[in-house]
Amino acid sequence: MSRKLADSTISKLRSALDEERVKLMEQISEHAKEIEEALQNESPSERIPDPSTAEGGTLSFEYEMARELDQAAADRIRQIDHAIERMGAGTYGTCEECGTDIPIERLKFMPHVTLCVECARKKR
Ligand SMILES: [Zn+2]
Repeated sequence: MSRKLADSTISKLRSALDEERVKLMEQISEHAKEIEEALQNESPSERIPDPSTAEGGTLSFEYEMARELDQAAADRIRQIDHAIERMGAGTYGTCEECGTDIPIERLKFMPHVTLCVECARKKR
């Protein structure tokens, strides 16, 4: 039998996951707004695709950065949703690969993890 996490522990980790999820969603929508504003404020001359203009370059660089962050945020949200799913299924806290109990310290530090340290290392 695998370890049973206390309900109070689960609910604490659950609220940590919910909180992080909200922050990530805010980040994504903020970036979307920023990019939209940046594109609207762009003067028509800057719209002409010319990689040598500094401003055009800055915008696309910022856009790239935001997109990369959003990508990471979206990945994290998927992990969070998956962890929450596993809470519902009662399998939260055990490694998805090998089935060992994930140390509670690891869960507190990164509540979204569904792999033990060993398996996470192997996956990389
Ligand atoms: Zn494992």
